[in-house]
Amino acid sequence: MSMLNITPSPANLPPSLVVIDDEKAIGDLICDIADTLGYDTNAYTATSEFKSSLTGREDIIFVDLLMPDEDGVEILRYLASEHIDSQVVLISGYDKRVLKSASVLGKALGLNIAGELKKPFTLKEMKSVLNNCLIEQTASPSIHNDFTLQDLELAIQQERVFVQYQPKINLTTGSTYGAEALVRINTPDGKTIPPGQFIELAEKSGHIKDITRIVLTDSIHFCKHLQSIGWDINIAVNVPSVLLTDVRFADEFIEQIELAGIKPSSFTVEITESALAENYAVSLDIVTRLRMRGIQLSIDDFGTGYSTLQQLKNFPFNEMKLDRSFVSDIHDDENKAIILKSIELAHDLGLDVLAEGVESKEIEQELLRNGCDHAQGYFYSRPVSEDIFIQHLQHSPATEHNKVM
Ligand code: C2E
Ligand code: CA
Ligand code: CA
Repeated sequence: MSMLNITPSPANLPPSLVVIDDEKAIGDLICDIADTLGYDTNAYTATSEFKSSLTGREDIIFVDLLMPDEDGVEILRYLASEHIDSQVVLISGYDKRVLKSASVLGKALGLNIAGELKKPFTLKEMKSVLNNCLIEQTASPSIHNDFTLQDLELAIQQERVFVQYQPKINLTTGSTYGAEALVRINTPDGKTIPPGQFIELAEKSGHIKDITRIVLTDSIHFCKHLQSIGWDINIAVNVPSVLLTDVRFADEFIEQIELAGIKPSSFTVEITESALAENYAVSLDIVTRLRMRGIQLSIDDFGTGYSTLQQLKNFPFNEMKLDRSFVSDIHDDENKAIILKSIELAHDLGLDVLAEGVESKEIEQELLRNGCDHAQGYFYSRPVSEDIFIQHLQHSPATEHNKVM
């Protein structure tokens, strides 16, 4: 299969939208609406024609999952093999669950799945999907990530890697008992690069060890500072899969904590399910070692990876972090069922549950009603600098638990 010659879309050209759907009327309808929004549009009814027309510069591609000549999954695979990074919207007459699993598959293949449309759809639904695509385009004008390895190396060298802290809240008392350390990079012209733009690069290039070291050192320093001003706050750090295969990592981390004179239980290591799956035996060794020394262990993004119940049973976790994708849409019946059952399962296994991505009072209340223990999200605070985190603590209800003096 040949690679497409992908060149970025010139800034002065109108955005482009392509539809592949064997029902001509659907393709025409989507194009008509997109035309009014200023898109340059094309609709195809046959996949061969669609494939040969692709330039790699399309901004949005609508893919019908049910095609007579080649099914939608094959089209998704084709787009992935050609490294297409256009926003992809899936359309289908199948039920909602099929659409969802195709969407998950598309994401797993590395595609930028921007929406789903179940046939028959209303004009309003169609417009809303297109609007969401537009919002995403303006929010991230360059989907092409232009942060390079050289940028990353310079940032590490010039000490522009820094950490922000996001409060973790006890839902019953409303107090802040912990913080998650989240890494960022400052650019020389004062912009902040979020981790989504460099963690993968750091993992592939091996620099993730340097990054993690910076985050650990900063977190230990901050934890010690908080204790010196009277706050016993648990700091959580994200540990990537590569470090879970490095047997020295656990020892170095514990040594550093002890040198600083802090108790290991003031730290939590957050691990994603997929990280564990990659190297089961070594990870189990490292993770057990960390726990035996008193470090807390959290399973991150729960429900999105490839966790098995076996893993949940065998790894000595203290906390389950319910992924934001379920929490932000808690009113969806399926999400709600997943949240409820996960809480039940976690509690039966002796784990606390933290809900990620809590953005409103309404979601907080729903979580409380369902027995969730902890929460984190923009509703309480975004990730912030050390100074602002301390201000946040001073305004948060104090408990015997987190005040050391
Ligand atoms: P994560 O571990 O799931 O971290 C939570 C992410 O959710 C953070 O994004 C946080 O800013 C965001 N978030 C928190 N509350 C809300 C909310 O209410 N609404 C929304 N929409 N988002 C919320 P951030 O800082 O961009 O980090 C993204 C991911 O990058 C993290 O996901 C984690 O996987 C990775 N990451 C961040 N720092 C580190 C690090 O030091 N080491 C490693 N290996 N990965 C890191
Ligand atoms: Ca995390
Ligand atoms: Ca998470």
